[in-house]
Amino acid sequence: MYCDKYNEELFSFIKNSPTQYHAVANMARSLSNGGFVELREHDSWFIKPHSKYFATRNGSSIIAFLTGDNCPWESGIKLVGAHTDSPCLKVKPTPEIQSHEMVRLGVEVYGGALLNSWFDRGLNLAGRVTVLVTDEDNDKDNIVNISGVGEYGKEFIRTLLVNYDTAVATIPSLAIHLDREANTKRVLNPQIDMPPLFTIYSHSHLEDLENGSIQQESNDFIREPDSFSNSSTSKSFRLMLLEQVIKENSNINIKELLDFDMSFSDAQPPFFTGVNQDIISAPRLDNLLSCHVALKSILRVYSDNASVDFTSTQGGFAPPCMVVCTDHEEVGSDTAAGAKGSFFNSVLSRLIPDTEQRVRSAARSFMISLDNAHAVHPAHSELYDSSHTPVLNQGPVLKTNSSQRYASDCESAALFRYICKRADIPMQTFVMRSDMPCGSTIGPIISSSTGIKTVDAGAPTLAMHSIREITGSADPFMLFQVINHFFSMESLPLLSLI
Ligand SMILES: [Zn+2]
Repeated sequence: MYCDKYNEELFSFIKNSPTQYHAVANMARSLSNGGFVELREHDSWFIKPHSKYFATRNGSSIIAFLTGDNCPWESGIKLVGAHTDSPCLKVKPTPEIQSHEMVRLGVEVYGGALLNSWFDRGLNLAGRVTVLVTDEDNDKDNIVNISGVGEYGKEFIRTLLVNYDTAVATIPSLAIHLDREANTKRVLNPQIDMPPLFTIYSHSHLEDLENGSIQQESNDFIREPDSFSNSSTSKSFRLMLLEQVIKENSNINIKELLDFDMSFSDAQPPFFTGVNQDIISAPRLDNLLSCHVALKSILRVYSDNASVDFTSTQGGFAPPCMVVCTDHEEVGSDTAAGAKGSFFNSVLSRLIPDTEQRVRSAARSFMISLDNAHAVHPAHSELYDSSHTPVLNQGPVLKTNSSQRYASDCESAALFRYICKRADIPMQTFVMRSDMPCGSTIGPIISSSTGIKTVDAGAPTLAMHSIREITGSADPFMLFQVINHFFSMESLPLLSLI
């Protein structure tokens, strides 16, 4: 697999994953196509050797693993971690804000979004909805429906994905003439400034309404302004959303929209820039770039040995490999689907039920926690430690922090350096300036709850948490080569793990 082809697939994954729910659904689909069997958390699990499995939680976190031919308490498990969520604007339950014949949608800021970057862009709207369906005509095995259903009589509450996949809103800047200090003192208030403009009333339509020459359409978002001030207003966005859900799921008998989790994202797909097209500009590189690297790497572990008899108990396979991609990292990970939740430890305890064997396995395992790293900004190198300034297109970045905001230590860093060297990929290091606080990621969370030796690393990135982030055109593929090499290693030469 070459760099251009890799980036093409990455761009497609990012474009088709406007939310963590879409990212997990796309990963689940790729894993299923790659021969991985889905295990549902509420079913009994019968794990076989030499097999491939995956499980999801909340439709927003996913764990995939290969059982390998060795006992994990003898070989350890090779893990790669990442997070599925990205900063965004989440639509409020009753979102309509009406003023001057315009409707904006109220939003909450999810995660540490760089709000300036959200203005004057085409914004897509996507997420998931819960709908009431009748059991007839429903395809219960549809992989999109990975969050499960509840049953009451013949009615079910079903979770469905929604993606307008086009620009449906925009957040207009205030003109410089009305804010002369915008370039020096602009302060943004999320409540006031961030609701995206969703629609403008049609004057002719309004006149027709006033004249009584047309009836208001029940599923039309263009409505008489006063209607937004009464109790029926909350139905307007819901009705429009329901129409979109029905359009995207015409095979399902939907009776009612019950709730939604919709968020705005950049409608513009990823693209190359730079005179040599050696820079990638894309939404959600943090951390879909890493999810994609992890996914592509675990899909390839056995594919190079496609002719090998999987039922053989002879050698030739790598030790167990696992990919852990969790939700809610951008808001602290302390949720059922987050890295602080029980999902990972639950999967691990079902994979290795015996406590003694599980603890021994963890003590022999190694995780590369992937999350993007700060590349040096060309206009602000003073904000970086001058000896630790990662540059785009110069290899993955090893991240360290003495306060353990990153899980890397002398041993895990050594192993990461070794893997990069064996993969023939250059690598760089990052540590924050000593007078600035350091961010964190899922590495320390999983490492602290399991004891698994962990290194934090990631692709160098500019504009982190902007609506569009920037990395080098060679960076995703270089990181993939490192992880691919890691998963292909038959043993890890770190004596403390052996
Ligand atoms: Zn991240």
